[in-house]
Amino acid sequence: MTLSVGIVGLPNVGKSTLFNAVSAAGAAAANYPFATIEPNVGIVGVPDKRLAVLSRLAKSARAVPAAVEFHDIAGLVKGASVGEGLGNQFLSHIREVDAIVHVVRCFDDVDVVHVEGTVDPARDIEIIETELLLKDLETTERAADKAARMARSGGADARWRADALAALRDELSGGAPARSVTAGDPGAAAIAREIGLLTAKPVLYAGNVAEDEVPDPDSEAVTALRRAAADRGAEAVFMCAEVEAQIAELDADDRAEFLSDLGLEISGLDRVVTAAYRLLGLLTFFTASSKEARAWTVRAGARAPEAAGVIHSDMQRGFIRAEVISYDDYVVLGGEAAARDAGRLRIEGKDYVVADGDVMHIRFNV
Ligand code: GDP
Repeated sequence: MTLSVGIVGLPNVGKSTLFNAVSAAGAAAANYPFATIEPNVGIVGVPDKRLAVLSRLAKSARAVPAAVEFHDIAGLVKGASVGEGLGNQFLSHIREVDAIVHVVRCFDDVDVVHVEGTVDPARDIEIIETELLLKDLETTERAADKAARMARSGGADARWRADALAALRDELSGGAPARSVTAGDPGAAAIAREIGLLTAKPVLYAGNVAEDEVPDPDSEAVTALRRAAADRGAEAVFMCAEVEAQIAELDADDRAEFLSDLGLEISGLDRVVTAAYRLLGLLTFFTASSKEARAWTVRAGARAPEAAGVIHSDMQRGFIRAEVISYDDYVVLGGEAAARDAGRLRIEGKDYVVADGDVMHIRFNV
């Protein structure tokens, strides 16, 4: 799977600036085997120090990180759910993504108009949330009506679905997002996903701060965003979108120096990607050969055939077994051959649950 996130937020909060940073960072990474990208989609690599280590040990000709797609989702303004601004165009774009990165303006700048007049993260979040919620309410009402009709002539399953949708509709109309309504209820969560509810998507807040607030932003707006995120059980990451755009233009060496001058260890973009991984419960496994060392993304809890399917659907279909070396063994012993000699290469079957850092060879037959 390729993790995809959608950038949303009010106008003039720094979304395009951040998206440009994504595009520049993606373009700077010459190793991407990804061809054409749509104009509103940018791709960046998932930061992972382990990949370079594996690539060195396996004498790989190239190293390919796991990828994250950023979708620039324009058109969300107050009233968007009833057709203001670009109207409903944002809907289909949000439906495509795994998670939402909600950019919130925390910087003061008289030259950059705030659509609502003042910098107020809690209010801004609520405006966007309300638009998404109104849209979800409409979707759920329609689905609930249909399910109620089906239930009249249907069996127990149809009645269960009608009840679940009616309950969901009532909760949404009370102002609760689908993600909190369906938490801990896999059946309801599946329905919310199936009907494409926007507020079912996990959210991460990205506070856009002024350049002189990097690396330790501490303004009133920052505190307000932290609090609003915490109230929702969500994470907030802070960055300066304009600085991110500058970082993205640099090559690897200059980038490290620039970051350290700013007092940063990793870029804000990298922190967003890492946080999105955490949010979605994803993990990384590797393949390593002389041709290429590569990182892949799979959901935590996935079994070996599902991981094989991330590489190629044929590998999942014809899965026979996986040869697995843990990252630590691979590195401590100094590579695949040494790990095999030391008896640390395991043969795993279709029920094997993939662990973060596994270095895998998939054996398959189609
Ligand atoms: P969007 O409408 O959310 O896509 O916002 P843009 O990315 O187009 O940014 C709106 C304006 O705010 C532009 O003039 C940016 O240069 C400016 N801007 C973006 N990020 C920052 C920032 O961190 N500090 C300051 N001072 N201006 C910023």
